[in-house]
Order: sequence, then C-alpha cells, then structure tokens
Amino acid sequence: MLDKAIRKIVIVGGGTAGWMTAAPLALKLGASCEIVLVESPEIGTVGVGESTLPTIRYYNHALGIDGADFVRRTKATFKLGIDFRDWGHIGNRFFHGFSDFGPSIENRPAFMYWLRLARDNPDMPSYEEWSISTAMAHAIKFVPPHGDQPGPTNAYSYAFQFDAGLYALYLREYATARGVQRIEGTVGDVEQHPETGFITAVKLRDGRRIEGDLFVDCTGFRGLLIEGVYKAGYEDWSAMLPCNSAQAVPSALADQLTPYTRSTAKPAGWQWRIPLQHRNGNGHVYCDAFMSDEEAGRVLLAGVDTEPLEAPRQLRFTTGRRRKSWIKNCVAVGLSSGFLEPLESTSINIIELAVGWLIQYFPDRDCSPELAEEFNRLAAQRYEFVRDFIVLHYKLTNRTDSEFWRYCANMAIPDTLQHQIDLFRTSGRITIYDREGFQADSYASMMLGHGIRPERTDPLIDRMDQARLLDHFHKVHATIRQVVGTMPDHAALVAQITGEPIRKL
Ligand code: FAD
Repeated sequence: MLDKAIRKIVIVGGGTAGWMTAAPLALKLGASCEIVLVESPEIGTVGVGESTLPTIRYYNHALGIDGADFVRRTKATFKLGIDFRDWGHIGNRFFHGFSDFGPSIENRPAFMYWLRLARDNPDMPSYEEWSISTAMAHAIKFVPPHGDQPGPTNAYSYAFQFDAGLYALYLREYATARGVQRIEGTVGDVEQHPETGFITAVKLRDGRRIEGDLFVDCTGFRGLLIEGVYKAGYEDWSAMLPCNSAQAVPSALADQLTPYTRSTAKPAGWQWRIPLQHRNGNGHVYCDAFMSDEEAGRVLLAGVDTEPLEAPRQLRFTTGRRRKSWIKNCVAVGLSSGFLEPLESTSINIIELAVGWLIQYFPDRDCSPELAEEFNRLAAQRYEFVRDFIVLHYKLTNRTDSEFWRYCANMAIPDTLQHQIDLFRTSGRITIYDREGFQADSYASMMLGHGIRPERTDPLIDRMDQARLLDHFHKVHATIRQVVGTMPDHAALVAQITGEPIRKL
C-alpha cells in the first residue's frame, strides 16, 4: 500500500488558506510526507478576513495551540456575535450571538416560548433580554463560558477577531517548525502528465521546478491550478448576492473594545467594524451596479468612527463557488474554491472544514475519483447552506430607500430558503438543513431582528401554564443581569491575557 502513498504535497499560496492547510497536514503527516509551500513575493494576499466563527477554536485546539499565546500573537479580541444596525429598516438594531437564546426547554428552542409569551404580554421585554451573549455585548463584558451543564448563564459561544496577516505568520512558524519547506517564488507554468492529466510539477518564473504528488491550490480568487489548469468553472450567485466590491481601511482603536463585529447596512451594501487589540478593521461591501467606487469610498470614511490609518484599499469579487474544488490531484482550498461575501464571517470556517475533509478523505497517489467526489459534494453543500443564510439577511429587508434594497426585497431566492421564511412567518417554526452550521437560534435571530412575528405560535406551548413560563422567563432574565454585572470588561480580560494594556495606535 505504501508504494501508492503520497510522498510530496505542494501547496501553492501562502495566505490564510495556504498556512491553514500546511499546519494540520504537517502535524498529521509528520516526516512521512514532504510538504512544500510556495508563496509569491510579487502577488500579495487578499489582506482581509479578521472575523471568525467559534469553530476556529476547535481548529486551533486540534493543532495544540495555546489560547493565550494565540491571543497575544495575533492581536486577537473575543467575538460574541454581530451587532446588526440599519438592517431591515433604518434605525433598527439587533444582535446575532453565537448560540443565543439559552438552552431549549422540553426539546423546543427557547425563542418559541418567548414568542408565545410576547403574544399575550405587551410589556414583555425584547427577546434579546433573554440572551446572555446580547447582554454581555451591550455591557462590553466578556468571560469564556464555564461548566458543562448548559444553563442560562453559560449558553453562549465565542470566536475571535484577529489580524489575518499575523495569524498566517503564526501558522507559518508552526508549520515550518514541523518540517514544511517554504519557497518564495511565483508559479508561471504547470506541467501535466500527458496521459492522466495529473499535475506533475509547477515551474517558477525563475526557472525552478517543484514536483509533487498532490497539489493544493491556495492561490486566492485567481484559482491558478483549479481554474487555470482544469477549468473547473464557477457557479455565479451574484443575482441573489449582488455585492461584488469592497473597500477596506484600518482605523485607530475606539475608546471601548467591543466583543463583537459590527455590521451597518448602507444604501448599496453594508459596512463592517472589527475591533482588534491595536486597531479597528473597517470595510464597505457594496454592489458597483448601484453605487460608484468614489461614492462607496465616501460612505466608508463617513462610517468610520475613528481616525483612518491609511488610504482605503479596493477589492473585487464574484460571489459563488467553483463547480469542483477537487479535480485529479489538485484540491482548491480558500478563495480559489469560492467566496461568499463576509457578512457572517464564514470564509475561514470553510477553510477549516475543507482542510478537515482533505484529511478525512486523504488520497493515495492515484487520487481516487470517489474521494474527490465526496469532497466536492461536501464543499457544494456547505457553500449552498451558507449562501442561503446570507441571502436571508438581504431578502428580509423592509428598506425601500434605495434601488439596491428594492432589488434585494424582490429578487428570486432558492425554494428551500423561501420555505424556511414561510414556515417561520406562519407557524414560528424553523427547519435547519445545515446540521453543523447556523442553527435555529441564528435563523430566529435574523427573522426576529427583521421584525417578523409569526402568525401562529406552537399549539403545544399554548397549552402550557403561561404563568409558570412567565415566571421562568423573569428568573432567567434576572440571573443574566446579575451574572453579566459581575463579569470583567472585555478590554480588561484581553489585557490580563496579553499582559499589556490596550493601547491606541
Ligand atoms: P489570498 O489571501 O489571496 O492568498 C493567495 C496566495 O496565493 C498569496 O500568498 C499569493 O502570493 C499566492 N499566489 C497567487 N498566485 C501565485 C502564483 N502564481 N505563484 C505563487 N503564489 C501565488 N473571511 C472570514 O472568515 N472573515 C472575514 O471577516 C472576512 N472578511 C473578508 C472581507 C473581504 C472584503 C474579502 C474579499 C474577504 C474576506 N474574508 C473573510 C475571506 C478571507 O479573506 C479569505 O478566505 C482568506 O484570507 C483566505 O484567502 P486565501 O488564502 O484563499 O487567498
């Protein structure tokens, strides 16, 4: 069997995807396989990607990375979720936290009980008052959740916001210490086997030639191997996710270090603010068919609430996915496999998953087509699940103040997503096709945040003792307030971990 084993892996690209692929492969394969990573000094990385999902913690943990060291080295802050502003209608504000509404009651998500109580109790506090992550976000406090038994005071999860460049460097150090060979150079040509079509080597512009058995394409949007060599094709989802441009600019730190990412809807898209230890990351994502780049730049700077540290950088993208991410002996990971705009910070999560699938379905030198097919099926499914959740944000809008929002309200969406919206509108139920990703609480957060109140509540909850339910809610609410009151400020906790006070640049 070992005579068929992969002896050498060549990773082309040294952005977040390249190093996130190299590190776990080095850990898993050790000295049994040579791993080379080629990165181009001339072609830069995309240079954005600072906000993550909680799964990044599992990725880091699997590598044995020390949490405190990671926070120090990547200038990370903690993230409880996303603060949505002006989505749905101007002046609207709601929080999408990770695992938000507390533990389920009798196998039904907690928000369903809130819906029932709110129906007959006009004075009922907002559903957000039942969410500990929202309470922590509003109070700008953070501690990691404690204990194993889910209760109202630990029913939250968290992710990180970090400097993507520092994270790639951190993983580079990790991977090279475990034997990954780093080569600086630009791939100019690719050699293929005349009969099988497998890639046999990449040739650098300076004449060097790097042979390999398996090639991982981490070259970003260009997809040098997967598209350049194999013409995998691209499924373009711009009709339902029209944003195709972004401008990004770092700015000085604000007075308060918020444990969340902020997303503010704008006339032709939305703007992010991501607080790190040393600066804020800001960006305006928009559709250039509805707003010029000049205007988008003005909107960005008007929405940056601290002093910009450099001129904004322009980015372009097409939302969609590569029709196949694994062809023959080439596997695309990262932007080369597809891109969904960063509204829910999902790209790094898809990299984590793709690397996990590559390890799970690790091939021999013949790269069995069944393994590739399974990888491609998982990738397609994942991109579609995430796509639907992001489309939901736009489709639910009540904004009519610009052509962009009118387009979003009227655009065609997948039937599965329309079914989810209709199910919630009529009966307050949520069905989740994506078992591993965004759960019922996330969908509920988005629907409730956009002001949807179902026509009907759950008939089984209707039959329960309402006074007892109300009493339960008030107790949970009081406990959350009391517990959050005792938590440290987010900035104080970060300073305690890093050993340095948070300083403005
Ligand atoms: P890149 O960073 O583009 O790296 C490509 C690498 O390939 C570089 O090292 C380059 O040198 C190399 N290369 C290219 N051509 C060659 C060649 N010919 N020879 C040798 N090397 C070559 N994701 C999140 O999870 N959260 C976010 O908040 C988030 N925000 C985003 C905001 C915007 C506006 C955009 C566009 C993306 C965002 N993303 C986010 C996505 C995230 O940036 C990417 O998923 C992540 O950075 C991975 O990029 P990459 O490594 O695939 O590509």
